[in-house]
Amino acid sequence: ATPTAVMVATGKGASQGVLIKGGNALEKAHKVKLVVFDKTGTLTLGKPEVVSDVLFSSYSLEDLCDMATAAEANSEHPLAKAVMEHAKRLRLKNGSYTEHVTEVKDFEVHTGAGVSGKVGEATVLVGNKRLMRACSIPVGPEVEDYILKNEQLARTCVLVAIDGKVAGAFAVTDPVKPEARCVISFLRSMGISSIMVTGDNRATATAIAKEVGIDKVFAEIDPMGKADKIKELQMKGMNVAMVGDGINDSPALVAADVGMAIGAGTDVAIEAADIVLIKSNLEDVATAIDLSRKTMSRIR
Ligand code: ADP
Ligand code: MG
Repeated sequence: ATPTAVMVATGKGASQGVLIKGGNALEKAHKVKLVVFDKTGTLTLGKPEVVSDVLFSSYSLEDLCDMATAAEANSEHPLAKAVMEHAKRLRLKNGSYTEHVTEVKDFEVHTGAGVSGKVGEATVLVGNKRLMRACSIPVGPEVEDYILKNEQLARTCVLVAIDGKVAGAFAVTDPVKPEARCVISFLRSMGISSIMVTGDNRATATAIAKEVGIDKVFAEIDPMGKADKIKELQMKGMNVAMVGDGINDSPALVAADVGMAIGAGTDVAIEAADIVLIKSNLEDVATAIDLSRKTMSRIR
């Protein structure tokens, strides 16, 4: 495209809340035939809430929440925020809320799995089944049952292990964005297919995908795996756009022909992307591609 055409189009995009970083992104977007969506914070609102809790031990719910909060306090993951909110609500209800959070030692982030640390004398792990498996903590039938039941309802389970045993769990919902389903179907009408790639488990991911009308899902994929998936799809000769919001999406945003970051996402994702959807509205995925198509057809 000529510099003038690029200027006009980027100006038009900016006025619609679509920030296009230069002519290269604009030129590539018109060839996109496949859009890969991250799940959490991209297709979903990214404001998860704990909707159920359960005990598998003799710890009280308050103690379980305290341990989980201590471990999650240093995490920036949306699930950590949900767990902490839940713990706060419980303590407010019980009239025992204080700002004070128990200190954690040896804090560790397990990307795509959870967090761990020492809370007082206890070793605490908060995360998914993969984290439990990696730390050789048995997940009994009672726990499996709880997980299965909740995942089928599109909920993500956060397990809390204390001293080598799963002591309790939380089920978290993260509603899909209201426009998600409509956008997927609109993209289809533009000749563009959509798939999902997520670090979350298969059952939850599939349930969310079904809600928004996506029928291809890659679940339990770590950040580098997301980028590898993109490269794999490109090797089949496709022009691929990636839409994501998290640090864990940045390698994939870079690998994609067109990386699109959700405006409300993390700075790292915004930096890695070619296009930023300022309004965090998924409709602007189509806006961006449409703008590119119109600009490029005017040129040729
Ligand atoms: P996504 O690709 O959907 O944004 P992530 O890769 O960030 O997901 O995380 C994948 C999974 O790892 C989560 O669904 C959750 O089960 C687990 N997880 C990651 N971080 C945490 C945390 N701080 N607390 C609890 N679970 C976590
Ligand atoms: Mg995300």
